Amino acid sequence: MRIVLLGAPGSGKGTQAKLICDYFKIPHISTGDIFRAEIKKMTPLGLEAKKYIQRGNLVPDDLTISIVKESLNKSENSDGFLLDGFPRNIYQAKKLNLLLTEDKKYIDKVYLIDVTQDVILERIGGRRYCSRCGASYHIRFNPSKLDDRCEACGEVLIHRSDDKEDIVLDRLTVYNKAIQPIVNYYKKLGILEKIHGDANPSEIFSSIRSSLMVV
Ligand SMILES: [Zn+2]
Repeated sequence: MRIVLLGAPGSGKGTQAKLICDYFKIPHISTGDIFRAEIKKMTPLGLEAKKYIQRGNLVPDDLTISIVKESLNKSENSDGFLLDGFPRNIYQAKKLNLLLTEDKKYIDKVYLIDVTQDVILERIGGRRYCSRCGASYHIRFNPSKLDDRCEACGEVLIHRSDDKEDIVLDRLTVYNKAIQPIVNYYKKLGILEKIHGDANPSEIFSSIRSSLMVV
């Protein structure tokens, strides 16, 4: 089973990716995780990617495609996978199809977790982090019992600049512009399925699960 998972920042895509991979026992290919691991190991690829990520830019297509290609060639991913964080634009989507068809493989399903802007703003805008121990909270969904301080270590919680409304709106604009052609492309291929993403994680997962049971 080969799945692509699409969703805006704050759509809960990461949570769903984990649930799907655990349930169906398929490997999770997250380009974000791969980049973070390569950066940590300070590989040439990681150092190259870091230059862009540090400046808040997206990693260029060809660099991203080469890491995805490397992943797809790994034996543990040969029978199936869930791709998360890729493709990010139509060029990458077409390239992915090319890589797979060269190998006589194809994508079974593309899920788009569709979330309204207000829900995304609430989910991301309410995030708080502890800069000392890394614990994370949400002012509405997972508040600290000590208000603005970390339950684990007492440090004052921070609101990351990335999570502030104007930055989130900018990211959403960029995301929406890039995602629309991908959505149309997969729709034409007849493999796109929209999932209503304003629901809670377990409800979202059960819609995906029932749809995958029939693939
Ligand atoms: Zn803490």
